Amino acid sequence: MPDVAGKTGPLALVADDDPVNRLLAREAIELAGAAVVEAESGAQTLEAFARLRPDIVLLDVVMPDMDGFATCAELRRLPYGERVPVLIMTGLDDLESITRAYDVGATDFTVKPFIPLILSHRIRYMLRASRAMEALRESEANLAHAQRLARLGNWQLEIPTSALTVSEEGRRILGLPQTAPVTIETLAHAVHVEDQEFVTQSLQATLTDKAPLAINLRVPTPDGTERIVHMQAEVVCGAAGTPERMFGTVQDVTDRKRAEEQIHRLAYYDGLTNLPNRRLFRDRLLQALASAQRRQSTLAILLLNLDRLKRINDTLGHSVGDQVLRGVAERLMVYVRRSDSVARHAPDGAAAVSRLGGDEFTVLLTDLESVQDAAKVARRLLKSLAKPFKVEGHEVFVTASIGLSLFPADGTDAESLLKNADAAMNHAKEQGRNVYRFYSQEMNADAAQRLTLESKLRRALDRGEFELHYQPQVDLRRWNIVGVEALIRWRHPELGTIPPAKFIPLAEETGLIHAIGEWAIRTACAQHRAWLAAGFPPIRMAVNLSSLQFEEQDLCKKIAQALRDTSMDPRYLELELTEGIVMRDAGTTIAALQRLKQLGLRLAIDDFGTGYSSLSYLKRFPIDTVKIDRAFVRDLAENSDDAAIVTAIIAMAHSLKLRALAEGVETRQQLAFLQQQGCDEFQGYLVSKPVPAEDLAQLLRGFRSPDTREVSVPAGLG
Ligand code: C2E
Ligand code: CA
Ligand code: CA
Repeated sequence: MPDVAGKTGPLALVADDDPVNRLLAREAIELAGAAVVEAESGAQTLEAFARLRPDIVLLDVVMPDMDGFATCAELRRLPYGERVPVLIMTGLDDLESITRAYDVGATDFTVKPFIPLILSHRIRYMLRASRAMEALRESEANLAHAQRLARLGNWQLEIPTSALTVSEEGRRILGLPQTAPVTIETLAHAVHVEDQEFVTQSLQATLTDKAPLAINLRVPTPDGTERIVHMQAEVVCGAAGTPERMFGTVQDVTDRKRAEEQIHRLAYYDGLTNLPNRRLFRDRLLQALASAQRRQSTLAILLLNLDRLKRINDTLGHSVGDQVLRGVAERLMVYVRRSDSVARHAPDGAAAVSRLGGDEFTVLLTDLESVQDAAKVARRLLKSLAKPFKVEGHEVFVTASIGLSLFPADGTDAESLLKNADAAMNHAKEQGRNVYRFYSQEMNADAAQRLTLESKLRRALDRGEFELHYQPQVDLRRWNIVGVEALIRWRHPELGTIPPAKFIPLAEETGLIHAIGEWAIRTACAQHRAWLAAGFPPIRMAVNLSSLQFEEQDLCKKIAQALRDTSMDPRYLELELTEGIVMRDAGTTIAALQRLKQLGLRLAIDDFGTGYSSLSYLKRFPIDTVKIDRAFVRDLAENSDDAAIVTAIIAMAHSLKLRALAEGVETRQQLAFLQQQGCDEFQGYLVSKPVPAEDLAQLLRGFRSPDTREVSVPAGLG
């Protein structure tokens, strides 16, 4: 048997035990342009086939060991044997053999004896057909492979017969069985119930309009999730314009869709709370504005800012702060979903709430019937936040300040509405937090004014525009001046004198209070020394302390330094702290107060009665003086409640061995009442307004001798 390794053209295997026949066959094969190998038995045939993989096999029926039928059947089971063309050579009279030949898988038969030229044409044809089949098979395999890679399937519908074919990958994507026949109904059923009608209608429309179709549909999977499938279809029409068939593809775009959704989420939602972020809020606001404009309806932006989130972060840690933010987001969502006045107009409740970042949230209210509706929502939102949040074993209380701006009254574009809601929110914060405010025109003017005031305030200290005035504090029994309260004044060359109520809050907001406060302490101490040097007896010097100063780390050091630099005796320095400062956090406050006391100075509680200090609290603080707030003194004559409060404060102070000082005494009646109740000291316009240092020196001189009193206090009181 010749070895034909390295063949380039086709190779034929001839199996026949008759050498003459083999010779004839060889002639025919070579005429067909193929090379030849010969075998004399069935066994040889199979062995040669496995080794050489010929492109065509010519098999004689009668062979000594194994006949042609058995050999053919065996060959079909070999690798590559399945598709090779096999030509059975049989006798002319043997009709039965022809039938059997096909049964065992022969491709064709030929009758012996044959004419080589004719057989050569037959062989050439068979080789060509086999090559074409192979090419087709390969391209189909490639297509299936490509479809699997692209998760793309194709289908075809014959319109007249409704016969539907779906490719392998198409079936996989649609969750259809791989072999059973499919109809248009099974296809529809494969789709998510909610999409079925949509799909059939779309296909129907494609058929009638002959326009291409491109839709997304959902396909449920056995594990309970769903796949998103993109379906495209096109109609092919016959010559008469009647639709003949529909070609289509289905593609599994689940992963792509998920990725798109993920990207969308990252871009448009806040990671912490899952609420829409500033960007999405803006988009929705623009939409809502366009629609409000069209329908001439009212819209409100509700801007909610949490009060003191920073404090929660600083004291309890950021993880608690984060959870509080999540908790707030949840309550807002729950409220907005439940509330008909919001949800009625927002088809998707979630859309109405957004987190702009940090501690700022917004709620969009559309189609408002009245402004009162917006106020109602704001009120309820504040209430819904009132209950404490339980986080990591803490009960955290938060309050919020809400600003509201209305379309079209407060602005017609997103920018100005947001800016005005922000101004309103800041206004709410100034009003004492946990309140809501509507925007008003004055707020903008306010804000602008504050801005110029701020820049002037920054320069005031360097330019020496501050000065201290002193208001005498008088002992009610001995009728002499026992101390003064230093009160700051700002003289601006153009704006004139600006009262502390106007600039102290601004100084606190901007942090300028630290420098200003230190200046006040140093100036007061220096003044005290100056009076002593001028020969006046020593009196108390009271200086006001802002809560921000009280929180300074090196407050004690600064004060000690001021005392040293001016060589002032600390016993005469009194610091006035408001009730609010002292009440904030009893534990740390007591320690801080004790450190101050160790400097040897005195402490006073200012504006007493306006906070919520209880007797038991005050007992624990190392303080010397309680200053009764002006508000109670003012209405002593008319308001019996105030009289009772003043009486109680004085009694309480005495029981704690503290000095009671009444502020803002303007009338003789007030003075008489206080004297009656045993109040120790007072200050007020009745004796003197706060005055410059030189004027106070005058007063001190006047008070030195009881005979030369210059104040118009009625005789009999002294
Ligand atoms: P305050 O500590 O309660 O000061 C008393 C305020 O009552 C002063 O207002 C004083 O002028 C005013 N007053 C005194 N007697 C009477 C009276 O008989 N009738 C009326 N109607 N008012 C009277 P002022 O000087 O405008 O100061 C306002 C607030 O500014 C002070 O309230 C204090 O909280 C703050 N302040 C003033 N100076 C300083 C300072 O140097 N540092 C700090 N942190 N705050 C200061
Ligand atoms: Ca004061
Ligand atoms: Ca006061």
